[in-house]
Amino acid sequence: MKFNTKLLHGRAVKKYADGATLPQISQVSAFQYDSASEQEDVFRHKAAGFAYSRVANPTVAAFEQRINEIEGGNAAIACSSGMSAITLSLLSMLCAGDEIIAGAGLYGGTIDLLEDLTKFDIKTRYVTHMTPEEIEPQINERTRVIYGEVISNPSLEIMDIRAVADLAHAHSLPLIVDSTTATPYLANPISMGADMVVHSTTKYINGSGNSIGGVIIDSARFKWDFDRFRALDGYRKFGNLAYTIRLRTDIWENMGGCMAPFNAFLNVTGLETLGLRMERICSNAAKLAENLNRLPDIRVNHPSLPGSPGYELAKRDLAGRGGGILTFRVGSKERAYAVIDALKYAVRATSLGDTRTLVIHPLSTLYIRSTDEQRAAAGVYDDLIRVSVGIEDPEDLTEDFINAVNSTRA
Ligand SMILES: *Cc1c(COP(=O)(O)O)cnc(C)c1O
Repeated sequence: MKFNTKLLHGRAVKKYADGATLPQISQVSAFQYDSASEQEDVFRHKAAGFAYSRVANPTVAAFEQRINEIEGGNAAIACSSGMSAITLSLLSMLCAGDEIIAGAGLYGGTIDLLEDLTKFDIKTRYVTHMTPEEIEPQINERTRVIYGEVISNPSLEIMDIRAVADLAHAHSLPLIVDSTTATPYLANPISMGADMVVHSTTKYINGSGNSIGGVIIDSARFKWDFDRFRALDGYRKFGNLAYTIRLRTDIWENMGGCMAPFNAFLNVTGLETLGLRMERICSNAAKLAENLNRLPDIRVNHPSLPGSPGYELAKRDLAGRGGGILTFRVGSKERAYAVIDALKYAVRATSLGDTRTLVIHPLSTLYIRSTDEQRAAAGVYDDLIRVSVGIEDPEDLTEDFINAVNSTRA
């Protein structure tokens, strides 16, 4: 089965109760049982069943099964937000004293989280580029995980997942990748060696900008050394499943980071059209990038453009598709604001992966609290505009952006 067919007819797509083609929205907190002993069996995990929606819910399970299949994982755990997924993906394997190696150009919220984790004595060492050459010298006896984004945003660099996974595994370290901006349509990080994948489902997976959510997918391939990964001590008997089981039955359940059933339903319906939307979004973004790139006085970055930082790896690993985000620099902050304000169709809003095109000035919004050093590392400049390209007709989008740029030329 190819990608779009699998989204609609894969193993994880069930015939739901009453023959429904989509899962019911089980919008309940608790599930009832006919007897106390039946309920006990469910609590003991001796019988299948649901007890309480923070722990498990049929609609959420339906979403987890679908995203797990499409990512080629062993188990997926849906979370209340992308940040919740990232937090729990790390805390499930880390203890005080452990270290993370991550890219300096990460999503701003993740950088803030890693700063928060220093209060729990979990330290991050940053590299400017997520390459084996830069990562290897940072590895020491405290390192426990390597964390990076498949397509960084807004710098739009692409991680060589195979190379970084090989390095991680040579040092007996797991690799977690945030694949939010790539989506399973562009990359299957697990097939390229990543051990866990996280997504903010808020973005392309939901796809219509109507709910916050996140998910962790575990390949269950990583061979845990339980003497080094003290957080997983006590889960030895589960072997490769230790990480999923600690998440599911402990840290995720106890921290209460569950996805709401209604949001899970929206994500199931969103996921079904992921391929179709991404095809259009990637093609729109490449066309827009090409057209904007012809203008003399702006600098465009999109992995489909030769010379852009992501070009070579997009060609090799993403079948030449550059994803849905592009950026351009217009010379000054004043002009950036003028261009943004002159746009007719592009919506001035944060987030990405919506049906409509979204535009933002990253420095004065997403990076408003960052240091100059963090901004430089993330490729955020005062004249930079970020565009999350939508599914509009490409002619209209191009016209909108060309007009906005031309009307603001000094
Ligand atoms: C938006 C985003 C997040 C955070 O997700 P939320 O759903 O907003 O919590 C994490 N990583 C990336 C790459 C994102 O774009």
